[in-house]
Amino acid sequence: MDYVDQVLSQLKEKNASEPEFIQAATEVLNTLRPVIAQHPEYQKAKLLERLIEPERIITFRVPWIDDKGEIQVNRGFRVQFNSAIGPYKGGLRFHPTVNQGILKFLGFEQIFKNSLTGLPIGGGKGGSDFDPKGKSDAEIMRFCQSFMTELFKYVGADEDVPAGDIGVGGREIGFLYGQYKRLTGLYEGVLTGKGLTYGGSLTRTEATGFGLVYITNEALKAHGKSFEGKRVVISGSGNVAIYAAEKATALGATVVAMCDSNGYIYDANGVNLPVIHDIKEVRRARIKEYIKEVPSAEYHEGCSGIWTIPCDIALPCATQNEINEDSAKKLIENGCWLLAEGANMPSTLEAQEVYKKAGIIFLPAKAANAGGVGVSALEMSQNSLRLSWTFEEVDARLQGIMKSIFANISAAAKEYGENEDDYVTGANVAGFLKVATAMMAQGIV
Ligand code: NDP
Repeated sequence: MDYVDQVLSQLKEKNASEPEFIQAATEVLNTLRPVIAQHPEYQKAKLLERLIEPERIITFRVPWIDDKGEIQVNRGFRVQFNSAIGPYKGGLRFHPTVNQGILKFLGFEQIFKNSLTGLPIGGGKGGSDFDPKGKSDAEIMRFCQSFMTELFKYVGADEDVPAGDIGVGGREIGFLYGQYKRLTGLYEGVLTGKGLTYGGSLTRTEATGFGLVYITNEALKAHGKSFEGKRVVISGSGNVAIYAAEKATALGATVVAMCDSNGYIYDANGVNLPVIHDIKEVRRARIKEYIKEVPSAEYHEGCSGIWTIPCDIALPCATQNEINEDSAKKLIENGCWLLAEGANMPSTLEAQEVYKKAGIIFLPAKAANAGGVGVSALEMSQNSLRLSWTFEEVDARLQGIMKSIFANISAAAKEYGENEDDYVTGANVAGFLKVATAMMAQGIV
């Protein structure tokens, strides 16, 4: 058995109850084979065994009191996966499906994504099985305060810097930050995605969605194409989806469908983004409400139907494994020729096989959604410098980051991939090499 197979078999045995983590690590390790073959010293240093084991996982109790006066207990986590190239950095997810395996998959992906940004940040992820849906602002605040009362012991501006993810937006980051400051007396950049009046960066809210469209635009240009006149399907209607839709529309595309976890809307004329913004960001209501405002549009219950809508470009921006083999086949049958992942691991391994066989342009999450963490790192820089850059300045840096990621994954695809458009191998290898070199230099730690 060669070295990668040995590590894969150990991975499956040791993490049997964590299918998402096994899925993410298997995809990465399989594409690293050519690099591992060139570096026999990695095996001697047990580099892959160390890479797949988080440096530390913190699990804690989060008790809080709801509006009826009843005591609720949730579970909190922080996975500090790898700090070879910088302090741990990665979002917090509040969603009932959160468990250790999901956070390990997200933290593992984050290591390579953060490396690809070219900025000095390690990989981490955290969150809770708390469900923010239907909770009052006061309940959200009490939960966030209780969560931070435990987490503050393990995070810090030079140690571990969490941000948002599913269920954690500006409101939650504000409550978490307030409690951190109260507990530590420190006014420091311990969280990113902060409000603009207390250390946040312009463009952070838009960064993941805009970055996704910027890198997709680079891939389009490399293939002699553009967004102009293209039909785009975007899943989700949260932070990533909304700003991806905004930027794709600005570049001349028509976004024909979006969804939430209940169902999807189809609007052949192009989704009306101010209406979506009002429903999802202001009123925190369901996307179904869209057809009340735009009666010519359609609403369908269930999410997977969104992948049957004919489109040129698909941007999955909701959650992991939202596109399975069947959905991938439907997308391609209906004309999709480019798919870029805004969400983390939205495509199953089987779906990725379908893309590969069909030869569509495929930009994996690690590269495609790295704009969010890229601007988070710029927020850290601004906090350290005690400066605020303008929207244009941060947006220009974001564009630079996404351009450089595309150039790096293309170069690695040419050198190590199955073909020059093999951006999956390109992203994994380019992200891995920097981390591997740093780990080798730092001894057995
Ligand atoms: P939000 O909570 O803002 O939005 C998530 C959206 O996806 C909501 O519309 C939600 O619907 C929908 N959704 C969630 N679960 C499901 C499901 N099982 N089926 C269908 N739709 C679902 O999260 P973000 O936009 O921040 O995150 C979306 C994805 O992007 C995640 O995979 C996240 O890890 C990734 N990401 C986010 C970054 C960021 O900067 N925010 C950075 C990099 C990656 P509903 O309202 O019904 O829950």
